[in-house]
Amino acid sequence: MRREGCDPMNVRMSDVLCDFCGREWSDSLPMVEGHQGSCICGECLSAAYRTVVLSAPQEPAQAGVRCTLCLENRDDPMWHAAAGHACACRRCVRQSAAVLAKDPDFGWRKPDSGDIRPAVP
Ligand SMILES: [Zn+2]
Ligand SMILES: [Zn+2]
Repeated sequence: MRREGCDPMNVRMSDVLCDFCGREWSDSLPMVEGHQGSCICGECLSAAYRTVVLSAPQEPAQAGVRCTLCLENRDDPMWHAAAGHACACRRCVRQSAAVLAKDPDFGWRKPDSGDIRPAVP
């Protein structure tokens, strides 16, 4: 999202905030844009990717829950941010991860299943 009151003709990095955690876009925090100015940062994306892509939850999306990034109601598993009401569907998480991972400047890589600790029996 954009910071409230920022100049739309002169948007700076610090005017771009993650819709999920509210932090500013910076050199150390990459950001991917969704629709209508919605944004997800690299850290939220890592958490989302682990949850909805690697862990593959079985529960379907709740009815009436709209993805913050694509603004659609989808049957995909949704990742809910710890704070606020923003959520991201699996399709958007996959697409955003592909965008971030492609650009070496961001230094971001997709979490792999080795990053998930096996559940203790
Ligand atoms: Zn974030
Ligand atoms: Zn979506």
